[in-house]
Amino acid sequence: MRQVLAPSAVGSLRAEYGPGAIVIPDQLVDRTSGRAQTYYDIGGAVHVSFADPYCPAGRSTAVATARAGDWETVDGGTLVVIEGPRFSTRAESQWFAGNGWSIVGMTGFPEAILARELALCYTSISLVTDHDAGVEAGQGVTHDEVLEFFAQNVTRMRTLVSETVQSLPEERTCSCGSALDGIKLPFELP
Ligand SMILES: [Zn+2]
Repeated sequence: MRQVLAPSAVGSLRAEYGPGAIVIPDQLVDRTSGRAQTYYDIGGAVHVSFADPYCPAGRSTAVATARAGDWETVDGGTLVVIEGPRFSTRAESQWFAGNGWSIVGMTGFPEAILARELALCYTSISLVTDHDAGVEAGQGVTHDEVLEFFAQNVTRMRTLVSETVQSLPEERTCSCGSALDGIKLPFELP
């Protein structure tokens, strides 16, 4: 199994779940700018499928492990990755939520597409640290609050990641490994 597990801190765009929930997203919206998002930037473009950005096997293992570990666990949802370093305005946050998106963070892209370009599996394990500014329950976010909440949960989070690693299937049944099949690469990856 060649699986990247990506723990991160996110804000919730939904009133239904708040600090302490684990979301295992199944979709991603890229609102970053200026981040390099391909390895193949010389000698011709490479277009890999990214319709489903996350590994289904990694996702189901992470969901089951989080549930077994007594986390409030949300199976699926859309992670919006913003450029940062600033947090969202209320209007941006309401716009994200209005589009049906679930959580917002500053990491996870381009990591997910870079993993796909290497035919690696990639699974996001997102810990909600706050309600984002546009959510009714959200008062706006400060960096200190996020850091403090994350610090309180870091040991538990580490346990979740290591238990997920141990529960991953030996056999690779997902299609992540064939992401580059039939694609002519401009150069060989090391
Ligand atoms: Zn996979």
